[in-house]
Amino acid sequence: MGHVFFLDGDRFVFFIRVIDDINEPPKKNPIWRIISPHKDCIGEVEGVKPVGDPIWQSDFQVSHRINQHFQVGNVFFAGDAAHIHSPIGARGMNLGLEDAFVFSRLVRSGQMARYEALRKSVDEGIVKKIELLSRTVMGRTTLARLVRFVLLQWLMPTPLFRPQFIKTVTGLDHPVRI
Ligand SMILES: Cc1cc2nc3c(=O)[nH]c(=O)nc-3n(C[C@H](O)[C@H](O)[C@H](O)COP(=O)(O)OP(=O)(O)OC[C@H]3O[C@@H](n4cnc5c(N)ncnc54)[C@H](O)[C@@H]3O)c2cc1C
Repeated sequence: MGHVFFLDGDRFVFFIRVIDDINEPPKKNPIWRIISPHKDCIGEVEGVKPVGDPIWQSDFQVSHRINQHFQVGNVFFAGDAAHIHSPIGARGMNLGLEDAFVFSRLVRSGQMARYEALRKSVDEGIVKKIELLSRTVMGRTTLARLVRFVLLQWLMPTPLFRPQFIKTVTGLDHPVRI
């Protein structure tokens, strides 16, 4: 389960519940993964009362980049070494696992030379999509604010947009070709 809260001054914070076992009933004091470019804003979210200090925290920079080549000689690039994008969309690790899965299949059949052609277009498409989503969520222009308001508050919960959004964050928005 995830929530996004928009605060004054275009600030936002994501809350994603950490679940060990999907079959377990919800815990009284669940652990949440919290992502925001704005430090110390958790206390401003209505109804949120942390019961202790963070278990772990770290800073990170957001970039949207992809390698020009996924193969240089005998070196093949996968995961964050090949492409990087903002955590909005929760795709980075899953995309890297997909690279690894496809690569392992190609190794088995001795077709590693097809790796770049198979993966670069897929990964590039996702990086662009996540960049657009990130600009929408983080943008400070009037257009970004308008799109954010209309898209996230009104369109997202509708049967037309919700399945598309779920496919995007679960990585089911494209077939895995080998
Ligand atoms: C805040 C945040 C939230 C995220 N949330 C999600 C999410 O919900 N879902 C999702 O799918 N992805 C998420 N991601 C992205 C995900 O964490 C990364 O895409 C993923 O960890 C990349 O894995 P990797 O193995 O490619 O690279 P890394 O995890 O960076 O692993 C590379 C490893 O190589 C080691 N290394 C580097 N240089 C050397 C060297 N010279 N010799 C030996 N070892 C070396 C490093 O120490 C590291 O352990 C998130 C990222 C961030 C920053």
